[in-house]
Amino acid sequence: MKHFIHIALLTSTLFGTQQGLMAAPAKAADTIFYGGPIVTVNAKNEEVQALAVKDGKIAAVGKKAVVLKDWQSDATKMVDLQGQTLMPGFVEPHIHILMTALTEELWLNLSNFSAQYDTLETLSQKLKAHLKTLPKGQWLGAFGVDPSRTNPFMAELTADILDQVSTDVPIMVINQSGHIAYVNHKALELAGINDKTPNPGDGGIYMKDAQGRLTGVVVEPTAILSLVKKMPPPSEADIMRAMQKTAKYIASKGVTTSAEITLGLMLGLENELKLFKAITHSEDFPLRVRAYLYGPLLGKGFNAIKPNDGDDRLRFVGIKFVSDGSTQGLTAALSEPYLYPRGTHFRGNLDYKDDEIYALTKPLFDQGWQIATHANGDRTIEQTLNTYSKLLTGNSDPKARRLRIEHFTINTPEQVKKAAQLGVIPGFTIGHVDYWGEAFHNHIVGPERASRIDPSASFKKEGARFTYHSDSPVSNVGPLNYITEGAGRLWQKAPRKVLGPSERVSIDDAIRAVTIDAAYGMFSDDKIGSLEVGKQADLVVLEKNPRKTPVDQIRNIKVKSTWIDGKQQTWQ
Ligand SMILES: [Zn+2]
Repeated sequence: MKHFIHIALLTSTLFGTQQGLMAAPAKAADTIFYGGPIVTVNAKNEEVQALAVKDGKIAAVGKKAVVLKDWQSDATKMVDLQGQTLMPGFVEPHIHILMTALTEELWLNLSNFSAQYDTLETLSQKLKAHLKTLPKGQWLGAFGVDPSRTNPFMAELTADILDQVSTDVPIMVINQSGHIAYVNHKALELAGINDKTPNPGDGGIYMKDAQGRLTGVVVEPTAILSLVKKMPPPSEADIMRAMQKTAKYIASKGVTTSAEITLGLMLGLENELKLFKAITHSEDFPLRVRAYLYGPLLGKGFNAIKPNDGDDRLRFVGIKFVSDGSTQGLTAALSEPYLYPRGTHFRGNLDYKDDEIYALTKPLFDQGWQIATHANGDRTIEQTLNTYSKLLTGNSDPKARRLRIEHFTINTPEQVKKAAQLGVIPGFTIGHVDYWGEAFHNHIVGPERASRIDPSASFKKEGARFTYHSDSPVSNVGPLNYITEGAGRLWQKAPRKVLGPSERVSIDDAIRAVTIDAAYGMFSDDKIGSLEVGKQADLVVLEKNPRKTPVDQIRNIKVKSTWIDGKQQTWQ
């Protein structure tokens, strides 16, 4: 390697002497960034003074004098950072882009991440106000109610309460977690669901009271989708507009590559493939997408798409399964009971039996697919690790398969060790510690289990990688926010406390969880995630350097611009 650099330097000097006769140096860059810290996120976490881009790729990083001498020509666009910081564009490994677009842009958005919690009364008022604006024949769709963040704790909508909003208009309100929905009796009637209707499989439940009557609470994707499918679908133009808006919002948070973590879930596989192929290749879409197909949609022998199919705008990297519900929704599968309601023996539900999830994942794993399994509870994490262990049996290099566990929320130290040994990459919804930390600690699982959620430092100690994500629409997008949350672990509700101080990580480690390690988790670290020669010039310009900013202030740093293939993206 040393010889190589030596020869490269020598040639550049030789060319340098000839350059006086030419209009531009042989290696003229399209763009050079300089004038502010350039955080490379390379193996040594180095900062450099200048970065040159040519043909959409990073051509040089290093000392300003050297990069300018070798790469500047009259045609080179010079970008003076004026003290601002250049970093690799952020990588978001777990977003439901389409679900965010539909629920936040086309439905009533009830998400509330402020410290002022809603009550059943304020929620009903918001629904009633929205009802007045609704065209005839429409369902009232809403997203983002969260009983674990209401006053009082766990105040929950039911069919009876929603009937007070309307008995004529069908109402569908999805919980912030995406794993629970609340519907009125009109919606149940239009969907043909009555007290005798069997549950729809894959963990879906139509909840009933002690008398066996439907409560209007519906649990897990198959049950929720059986109602969503009865809603008149939005027009293609509305979907495209919502997708564009959502993508620009995600980009405005500094993201240049995002997962679509459940492709096919909302509109069916064929429709969503068409949509994503078109939109990711349109002029005005400021994200690369790494797609995970939603596993339960894929029939036996599925091979229409192969691992790594696609291109740099839209690539298919994995298959996603959902194996339990939401911890704050009290549906994730735990090994010990929830602490709420007091005295309960309820431990949540696994969506699959052990042999079912193995049978579903095995043929896809054998085709070479990366498997990403949603597992919030420690009982589900245990099942997933056992499944992965079985899948990886006889594999000479298990780490190369980069199997993922999404959320990895309630866990044990043994599970962290086992996951690290198997090369499993956990992806943490790190907003859990912030928005739900107090609820986990004081109500849902108690201090001991709560302090271990999202065990970033434990994975670091095992020499393993971990990633941070929003799971949008579950929590709001913002990698700078995740850095504050991962390095600080302060919960939002007063009096604020640090949840599990020993699981805090350094700012540098938190940065890696939203750049290079997130890219690694999507088999994309060869092209993105750090600023190194040969990689795609995917960049973010920040007002300040997060490495030199107090942890609690990092989330407030302004994102100034994002660049893909060396081209500045527009967010308007
Ligand atoms: Zn998710």
